[in-house]
Amino acid sequence: MSGKVIFKNVEDLYNYIEEYKSTKSSNSANSLGIVFDEHEYFYWYDSGTGKVINIDKDIAFLLYNLTNSNLSLDNVVDIISSHNIDELNLIDVVNEEDLLKGFKISSLHCSDFLKHTHKEIQDGVSQLILELTEKCNMRCKYCIYSEGYSGNRSFGTVSMSRNLALKAIDYMDKDGDSNVVYISFYGGEPLIEFDLLKDVIEYSKQKLSNRKVTYSFTTNLTLLTPSMVDYFSTVDNLSVMCSIDGPKSIHDQYRVYSNQRGTFEDVMKNFKLLCNIFEKNKTFNVTVNAVYMPPYSKSKIETIYDFFSNLEFVPDKFTYRLGYPSPDTIPESIKYETYKGDMSIQNWQNEFVTQMNSFEDLKESSIISGYDKIHKRAITISASNRISLNGCCIPGYRRLYVRTNGDLIQLGGHKFSVRFDFLF
Ligand code: SF4
Repeated sequence: MSGKVIFKNVEDLYNYIEEYKSTKSSNSANSLGIVFDEHEYFYWYDSGTGKVINIDKDIAFLLYNLTNSNLSLDNVVDIISSHNIDELNLIDVVNEEDLLKGFKISSLHCSDFLKHTHKEIQDGVSQLILELTEKCNMRCKYCIYSEGYSGNRSFGTVSMSRNLALKAIDYMDKDGDSNVVYISFYGGEPLIEFDLLKDVIEYSKQKLSNRKVTYSFTTNLTLLTPSMVDYFSTVDNLSVMCSIDGPKSIHDQYRVYSNQRGTFEDVMKNFKLLCNIFEKNKTFNVTVNAVYMPPYSKSKIETIYDFFSNLEFVPDKFTYRLGYPSPDTIPESIKYETYKGDMSIQNWQNEFVTQMNSFEDLKESSIISGYDKIHKRAITISASNRISLNGCCIPGYRRLYVRTNGDLIQLGGHKFSVRFDFLF
């Protein structure tokens, strides 16, 4: 239907938007697009086409009110006349660019969408996440597994059995995506079970030899050894996400061993060791996840940025991600300082980007990925009526998380009522 609706006048457009609002519990049409301004220019981001259109201030005012307020048609006509808006020109542009025709919830009920969904499900699950162990040798003060955080398990003593881990790979062979499979290892600290991790990789190499397999794991780095590095140098398509919060004074504030001793010295020694893999393995990739904890300030972000930018042993393509902790993981003692309302990362990024001389400079910066997603968004001439599934609503269709005991979890936290052991 989308792309074929032609508005004859503002009344048509008004009725279309009102009907759209009536299908939303929020009674708002802001999912059709948003008005935003930058450097005194106004823009319309259109969700149906992905286009960003430069508009004048009066049109911005009208579009904002059409999509966000409950104005009567008379009110809309008043705005058009009092702001001297050229109604015919506005309708021409909306028709020509196919604007304001974003995804409608009713489209989920059509047979075309169901066919598309069915095909996606048939392709099989593509990512398997194995919780190799509940154990961890560290006790970060914001860890989701620390005592006192509701909704998560506590630190445990259990690791996954070899039999269960290999069964999960058999499952991927039988029911996984037939082209590409992503296998991720999670914990606790997965390197506590390095032998198991290695067994799973070696088994996958044989069992899934007819497809591309990519491996990844997240680690606190403290247990990495030279012999582990030797092994990882031989694994194709391996990505390692390292948890480092910044320089010693920042990192050691929260990332500590159980005796409260800071881990920075051990972490950095091993980070350097890990980066040796780049010389031997061109498919290897490493990223850093840094948790941004209070007290928040611009100077703290600059300190973290300087620290990661001046590491001499990391490769050119190295990136780090600075993010807030999830709300459930903030210790009670500092909860009042949580990120709500903090804009320091956003402000720093905005300032950083405006100082860039060219897009090439921006590409080389570590914050490019967020902007890159916007830059590479799908843009279509006519509004698209297709919304891709994000894996949240069909349990296990894209990502499958297997706990140490075989429980399966759909990412998003809903537990299946089935154990992996019983799938065979
Ligand atoms: S390393 Fe990870 S699992 Fe271990 S205590 Fe720290 S945050 Fe928790």
